[in-house]
Amino acid sequence: MPLYEYRCTECGEKFEVRQSMGGDGSKLNCPKCQAGKPEKLFSTFFSSGSSEPSDMSFPSSCPTGTCGLPPM
Ligand SMILES: [Zn+2]
Repeated sequence: MPLYEYRCTECGEKFEVRQSMGGDGSKLNCPKCQAGKPEKLFSTFFSSGSSEPSDMSFPSSCPTGTCGLPPM
């Protein structure tokens, strides 16, 4: 499950939340001041610079993407 990082817009507290794909964090609350609607920061999972997750190119069970390929 992807790990998302949020920042509270009220107190600036940063916190990480594991949530399912597509979650926008609108139901989250700051763990420090309980303010709602934290600002979403970069996911630590998809920090490759692309906003389009390219999971389709390799199975998720293979982190390198080379597990199912024949040896060079
Ligand atoms: Zn806060």
